[in-house]
Amino acid sequence: MPKKRKFIYFFGNGKADGHGKMRELLGGKGAGLHEMTRIGIPVPPGFTITTEVCKHYYDHQRRYPTELLTQVINALGRIEKILGRRFGAAADPLLVSVRSGARESMPGMMDTVLNLGLNDRTVQGLIRRSDNARFAFDSYRRFIQMYADVVLGIKPKEKNATDPLEAILERKKKARGVRLDTELTVADLEELVVEYKAEIKTTLGKEFPEEPRDQLWGAIGAVFGSWNTDRAIAYRELYQIPNNWGTAVNVQAMVFGNLGDNCATGVAFTRNPASGDKEFYGEFLVNAQGEDVVAGIRTPKPIAELAQFLPKAAKQLQRVCNSIEKHFREMQDVEFTIEEGKLWMLQTRNGKRTGFAAIRIAVDMVGERIIDKREALLRIEPDQLNQLLRPIFDLNGKEQAHKAGRLLGKGLPAGPGAATGRIVFHAEDAVQWKQRGERVVLCRIETSPDDIRGMDAAEGILTARGGMTSHAALVARQMGKVCVAGCEVLHIDYEGRVLRVDQTELKEGDWISIDGSTGEVYEGEIQTFPSEVLQVLLARSLEPKKSRVYQQFAKLMKWADEVRTLGVRTNADQPDQAAIAKAFGSEGIGLCRTEHMFFQGDRIQAVREMILADDETGRRRALAKLLPMQKGDFKGLLEIMGSLPVTIRTLDPPLHEFLPKNDEEVVELAQVMSVPVAVLRDKVNVLHEFNPMLGHRGCRLGISYPEITEMQAQAIFEAACELRRDGRNPFPEIMIPLVGSRQELHEQRTIVERVARETQKAYGVKVRYLIGTMIELPRACMVADEIAAEAEFFSFGTNDLTQTCLGLSRDDAGKFLPTYVLHGVFPQDPFVSIDQAGVGALMRIAVAKGRKTRKNLEMGICGEHGGDPKSVAFCHDIGLNYVSCSPYRVAIAKLAAAQAALIKKI
Ligand code: PEP
Ligand code: MG
Repeated sequence: MPKKRKFIYFFGNGKADGHGKMRELLGGKGAGLHEMTRIGIPVPPGFTITTEVCKHYYDHQRRYPTELLTQVINALGRIEKILGRRFGAAADPLLVSVRSGARESMPGMMDTVLNLGLNDRTVQGLIRRSDNARFAFDSYRRFIQMYADVVLGIKPKEKNATDPLEAILERKKKARGVRLDTELTVADLEELVVEYKAEIKTTLGKEFPEEPRDQLWGAIGAVFGSWNTDRAIAYRELYQIPNNWGTAVNVQAMVFGNLGDNCATGVAFTRNPASGDKEFYGEFLVNAQGEDVVAGIRTPKPIAELAQFLPKAAKQLQRVCNSIEKHFREMQDVEFTIEEGKLWMLQTRNGKRTGFAAIRIAVDMVGERIIDKREALLRIEPDQLNQLLRPIFDLNGKEQAHKAGRLLGKGLPAGPGAATGRIVFHAEDAVQWKQRGERVVLCRIETSPDDIRGMDAAEGILTARGGMTSHAALVARQMGKVCVAGCEVLHIDYEGRVLRVDQTELKEGDWISIDGSTGEVYEGEIQTFPSEVLQVLLARSLEPKKSRVYQQFAKLMKWADEVRTLGVRTNADQPDQAAIAKAFGSEGIGLCRTEHMFFQGDRIQAVREMILADDETGRRRALAKLLPMQKGDFKGLLEIMGSLPVTIRTLDPPLHEFLPKNDEEVVELAQVMSVPVAVLRDKVNVLHEFNPMLGHRGCRLGISYPEITEMQAQAIFEAACELRRDGRNPFPEIMIPLVGSRQELHEQRTIVERVARETQKAYGVKVRYLIGTMIELPRACMVADEIAAEAEFFSFGTNDLTQTCLGLSRDDAGKFLPTYVLHGVFPQDPFVSIDQAGVGALMRIAVAKGRKTRKNLEMGICGEHGGDPKSVAFCHDIGLNYVSCSPYRVAIAKLAAAQAALIKKI
């Protein structure tokens, strides 16, 4: 007989089938519950339905494996036994929660149903047990409301509409002349239950399911179904979570934080998730259910005040949290409920945090000897370092805004940084406004998981309600967005599209500024200022010792430098970019695109003259004008970089790109060149290409017009020789683009070598230099052994290599790439992260073949992928010597390189 498949893992009474390392199968929440149970933390009993069931569900037209039914019933029986309560029993019924739990947490993106098991019969049992009819009927009506939304799909029809059952509740409150839910009587709540059910019957044409087992299967199906809602898909897209992971489902006995004033519910972090400070941090509500805290409907109290209400439980919570953090050796984000004075833990997971907090916590934990430096390096997502470079408000501007009375109010500092932008009230508007180039601040009463795309598009997020752990705060922190949450003085009117604070009224499109580090909200625009790290490193306007953020950043970078083996260079064309890169610790320039220099000032005229010249003499005349300009540029770059390598690429883009763009420019140029307009116009037409990216570009230009390569080589060597003469030690690496055969490189190399020889002789100095090539064509990869005979280095141009390997236009693929990513054809945009199976395979071939010919061939990458952490890891793995990325990504690449080195060692 085949082995019985296990789809359910049980936990309860100090024992668990699973453990904390089983995230893939049990999801993050499940794994945490199992591990907590194992180490003796009080957790209500329950069971986890594995992610494999979710996969099966989607692979088999939303059907479950046959064994699941009995396994669920058995597991339910075990909960009943532990608690001495029966599911569906009229006396003292067992109620359960049904929650999602994917491998990576996706806060608020998937569905949950609470109080499941209630019906007209069991509610009576709940009244008897709690001796509290109000509580029982409130739980019952909440359950129906949640079930209708999540399982039965009864939702508002458009963005300004209210939920149909919520509307019934509002009507009831109005009819009774009350403002709060809590002011409704038991009879009101009983009526609500009847009215809700009637609405469901009218809308769906069928009854609300009374039978608890039907309710349970409905909820399980809804949770699996919520894996594929738009918002969950959007979230996975944003965070590159594979669509095939699936979610687990956790079914767990309910405990109640809303039985009275000796009950509470809350969430807590073992450290501050915004700043990383070592302080027990969180929020709670007395007499409430967990969802009330997270949904931001009531603004909760800071955890420090819990001791005033429930001193014993507060102490126990602190103890439990300390031991959980110690056990997991990582900052934890917990959910808890206190039921009649007894503490229950409902969730623990590694807490999401800002980039600031990530660094602070990792560095502090090394100091506290909880983790070592290697682990600290592995814990920070390289992209999070970006947040440290974000702007802060100009202090003067802020003071002026204060004096002018523009401070509107103060909310919670939920996501650090400064954001200034125009007000929008709806997530879709944020996306649209951003597309037209506007900076926006998304202002909401509270955010919901559906707002995820809008939150991503906004500079910052401002909410009127909700605490530090509300959805807005949580998601903003994770995205690294500036966020002020729970600014209660704001009155937001979605329909009127206005925001009011006392007498002040701000409309959609008006400017607003929010400080996510202090919680302040200002009317109007306030100028922003570079981050502390940039103030120390670039502007040098802040002393390193005065900035804790900088010190921690520097420490982390030092640790990264100690372990990484992959070099990090920068793509820079201008001296100021090179200076930035150097300040970030770049080890050279990996790509200087010389054509970028052609566009500066009025140089374009000389370039056009060169392109449109009739013969070599005409071209040389124009090139002679460009020579001193290029030489000056190269000298600047080489000077700043000292003795570090500076990779200078000869002219690459299609000539087409430099042509006059309109008739006016043709006329102007004809004058400068003293040729008839008609002749020039013809010439422009002749040079026009249908497919310029595959046209007259790269080394093909240098081969057609050797004098261009000659001029550029001369500019490089004259600059280098002058510096050498002055006692410097410049190190140019001359790079030939778009090579596909040995012969091409040979011809170009011959020119460069001749100019090098002649120029050094003329100056009477010797300069260190290398000649190499870009590898950006599939053919170049396949014949890399031949090309290596002419090259001292290879630099992978993965932008073009992606274009040519995948047959995707760099410029036009944006029209369908998002759909391809959505459908999973590509796990990620291949222009962002290297397509390892295709482009990556070609790179591996090129590395192996290149090194076969020349053992010490230096290899790097200078495509945009050089700043993408996953691609950096790939480059490390295939044995490149360095990556080159934009100046502001140097720190990210360094950390990614360190992680790659550490992971390889482990
Ligand atoms: C590349 O193709 O990856 C590259 C760096 O060159 P460019 O982007 O200038 O074509
Ligand atoms: Mg290229």
